Formats: sequence, C-alpha cells, structure tokens
Amino acid sequence: MFTDLQTIPGTADNGSLLIAGPCSAESRDQVMATARRLAAAGVRVFRAGVWKPRTRPGGFEGVGLPALQWLADVKAETGMITATEVATRDHLEAAVDAGVDIVWIGARTSANPFAVQEIADAIASTSEQPAVLVKNPVSPDLELWIGALQRIYDAGVRRLGAIHRGFSTYGESKYRNPPHWSIPIELRRRLAGLPVICDPSHITGHADMVASVARQAIDMGFDGLIIESHIEPCRALSDSAQQITPDQLKALMADLAPRRGCVDSPTLDDLRRRIDEIDDELLEVVARRMSIAREIGAYKRLNGMAVIQPDRYNTLMSRRITAGTDIGLSENFMRQLLAALHEESVRHQIEDGKNDREITE
Ligand code: PEP
Ligand code: MN
Repeated sequence: MFTDLQTIPGTADNGSLLIAGPCSAESRDQVMATARRLAAAGVRVFRAGVWKPRTRPGGFEGVGLPALQWLADVKAETGMITATEVATRDHLEAAVDAGVDIVWIGARTSANPFAVQEIADAIASTSEQPAVLVKNPVSPDLELWIGALQRIYDAGVRRLGAIHRGFSTYGESKYRNPPHWSIPIELRRRLAGLPVICDPSHITGHADMVASVARQAIDMGFDGLIIESHIEPCRALSDSAQQITPDQLKALMADLAPRRGCVDSPTLDDLRRRIDEIDDELLEVVARRMSIAREIGAYKRLNGMAVIQPDRYNTLMSRRITAGTDIGLSENFMRQLLAALHEESVRHQIEDGKNDREITE
C-alpha cells in the first residue's frame, strides 16, 4: 500500500528520519539560532509549529503566517528542509505556497475526521504535494488513526507516514502521554510498509526522559524520531519542560548511532521492551487501585465501618476469578493475584488511617 521511507524527504541513507526543531516558531531570531545549531549537529529536517492548537484559550497560539517566511529562510540559509503542523485547508495551502516540504497533522486534528477530510481535499487540489505525517489521535484509538491515514492516502498522497506521540491519560503517569507501544506496533502490522516515527518529546513531556524513550523507539524498530529542540528551552513559549537544546540533541544522536547495529536479536529485544512497557502500565494501574483503596479507607473510617468487609471480598473474589479464567488465566494464579492485591489494599487503608491519626494527634 505504501511507498517506503526513502520517499519522505530528509530520510538519511541509513534509513532513518530525524526531524528536530522548536515546538513553536516564536521569533525570527529564535528560529534562525535554533536552526543553525541543529544544522551544524547534522539534522536535515527542521520542525517548528506555526499554528499551535492550545488546550485552553490564552496560551501561545503561534505567530501564524509570518513564521512561514522564517521557515523559508531556514531552508535558504541552512539547506535543511522544513516541516510544520497544519490543521485546516488554509494552513495547508499557506504552508505549501511557502515551500514547506513536510506537513504533519496534529493529535487533536487527527481525532477529527471532518478536519482530516478537509485537509485531504486541500491536498488533493494542490499542484505541489507535500509529504504528510499523521500523528496518532489523542485517544488510544487505532481505527481512528488508520482512518485518518486512509483519508490522506485516498487524496493521492503516497509520501505518507505516521507519528506516534503517545495518548492522553487520566490520572497519574510518569509520561505526559503514555506510549501504549502495542498500538503503534499493531499499526505497523496492519499497514505494513508505512513509515512510523516516534515523538519522545510529547510522549514524555520532560526533557530528561526524551533520550531514553528515543533509544527505546529506535530499538523497537521505529523509522525515526521527531524531537523538540529549542535554543533556550526555559524561555520557550510552549512545551518548555520537554524541549532539549541543540547540544543535547547532538549528544542524543551520537548515543543512538553506534548502538543501532548492536542489537543482535531485534525480535527478542522488541518483545522484551513490550513486556517492560506492559509491566510499567500494570504498576501504574496497581498504584491507581491503591489510591482508590485509600479513599475507600477514609470513607470507612468516617462512617465507622471495618476495613475488611467479608461479603464484599467473597463476591469480588468469585467474580474476578471467573473473569480471569474466561481469558485463559489459571484459577490458582487468579486466587494468588487477588489475595495479594487485597492484602496490599488493606495495608494502604490501615496505614493511611494511622497517618491520619498521627496528623490529628
Ligand atoms: C507539536 O508537535 O508541537 C504538537 C502540538 O503535537 P501534538 O499534536 O502531538 O500534541
Ligand atoms: Mn509541542
């Protein structure tokens, strides 16, 4: 269905695509200074957001059209090709007119089939077709992601790829957007040949974590990376916490390069990383369960109820054991798992009660 990664402009001869640049184009100086340093570090594709979809009004929404000229200046001066996000027909037309080589559809836009179709129609009627990358929608919905890719493909785009930027979450997580690696892995299985790159900046939300997730993505066989880099991250007008400096990016690239060929068993490595990821997710889910257990503990204390309620425990056990055996887990395993979970929940309820008493005493 798809042509290969090499058709995406900026792909290196070793078959990987690296896009880097600031979250947002803020001023000509910031754009040019960042671009010069990135070009010197060997980056070939420069990204910068021109129009920024902000979660709430009042945030920095991008400078709009004037920034397209800065991207043209980057291209003219450094020879890097350019990439930006488009969310409407007008954005697409303006970006193409300004000579932007790669456009991407952001996570909020790819979640909206009307918006994606509008962009697809606009692409179909342009004479100079850009390469297009489609970010996953904010929700962990593979079908919606595939649907967005399909709309762009149906518009005649063959220089097409996907960006995995993680998924919104509710509750505590060490990631800004947890990766749920099984989803991009399934995307690659379903759309064989589709280039898929990873966005560790939006997955982690934290500059310190970018390198390790970038490493993980490359080890898992992603076709490249898109990384936010700002000349002075602490002064960035958007996504300040997750941007790295061009020097940090250079170090990250150097670290990735020699290790690329060292994985002697990519399949096993890939499987192990998936297991690690699932274990991380399991632990986060267990932590969420314990935090609810503590709330239940507080409720019971307030209402003079005992921590252990045998009826509730017995119903819970038999219902969960059936649910577990129905999906192929052994009864013995289910009993041990539920007993351990219950014991730990009780411990949290009791410990929390002790803390409360210590605070009030
Ligand atoms: C971005 O790349 O700056 C951006 C807004 O990303 P996302 O659509 O993944 O949130
Ligand atoms: Mn950003």
